[in-house]
Amino acid sequence: MTQASKKNETKAGFLLTVIVPVFNEQEVLGEFHRRLSEVLDGIDARVAIIFVNDGSTDYSLLTLQKLQQDDPRIAILDLSRNFGKEVAMTAGLDHARGDAVIIIDADLQDPPELIPQMIEEWRHGFDVVYAQRRSRAGESALKKTTAALFYRLMQKISRVQIPVDTGDFRLLSRRAVEALSGLRERHRFMKGLFAWIGYPQKAILYDRDARHDGESKWSYLALWNFALEGITSFSTLPLKAATYVGTFTAFGAFLYGLFIILDTLLFGNPVAGYPSLLVVVLFLGGIQLMALGVIGEYLGRMFDETKGRPLYLIKDYLPAPTGRDGMANSPESIHHRGTETQRKLGRGY
Ligand code: UDP
Ligand code: MG
Repeated sequence: MTQASKKNETKAGFLLTVIVPVFNEQEVLGEFHRRLSEVLDGIDARVAIIFVNDGSTDYSLLTLQKLQQDDPRIAILDLSRNFGKEVAMTAGLDHARGDAVIIIDADLQDPPELIPQMIEEWRHGFDVVYAQRRSRAGESALKKTTAALFYRLMQKISRVQIPVDTGDFRLLSRRAVEALSGLRERHRFMKGLFAWIGYPQKAILYDRDARHDGESKWSYLALWNFALEGITSFSTLPLKAATYVGTFTAFGAFLYGLFIILDTLLFGNPVAGYPSLLVVVLFLGGIQLMALGVIGEYLGRMFDETKGRPLYLIKDYLPAPTGRDGMANSPESIHHRGTETQRKLGRGY
């Protein structure tokens, strides 16, 4: 292709890549694809859809392959096992070539109908356009309050400003995608990473629907771990807390020591004895173990990072039939090329 014709092509319309992480979503994929297509058909752009099959154990992959037969825009990235949504999204981002890239859940909780509005904001110069929930339909009061608490806490203790009530549904500009692809940490708190890169960001408000079908893969334990991930990835406050608690306790102990000495000298009171001693020993022992646990959380994460393993492995890549003109990066090209940062670090993906 000559330089001139390449230029004309970019002018004619931009390339939009849609990334969909999929983990056991066989019930909704058909309906999701129907609604997504309806929206995409109305957009004046070349479109590529990358479904990332994150080790589904149901018929999701088969369903995707069937969809691909009728829709030449679809590429399927089949990961070697379940790596989690964070990594699945990253795999998709690594392979996305679009001038604008959209990440959307397959369970229809993220309405595809918002996409044109996102593109509009992107045209106005925003690098990250994220969908912000106005309400959370179909979720328990407990989940709503814990989520709200978590976001407020994150905003207080970390330097990056993570927007409240925001999921992963968003549009990223080319340079935002490039920036993200330089962040290869294993513990991927995506909401934090999206915020970390900075650039002009814009929120679009919407009402979040309940899942169309199937069930959420988030148990409360998973949510707790997710919160822990967010805090440890973006704040070292818990590490400092041990220092403050320790100082405070030592100071208290010193005052109490003074009090006992004076009490004995002035009033000749006998030593208070066994119960109070036991309480103090247990209290301090507990605090020490807790502080060790906090250090352990960080140490464990450092251990994981130092191993430098690839984030994911690809079992199969089924490019879109129209993808041969370079709508998506092939796994090989990424493996050999890598991003600038990866090359500097001397790591693969
Ligand atoms: N997902 C994934 N890997 C996982 C878990 C989830 O790719 O290990 C996908 C899932 O198929 C869906 C999206 O991530 O497209 C959001 O998952 P889910 O609906 O379970 O999360 P929630 O909406 O409750 O945050
Ligand atoms: Mg969901």
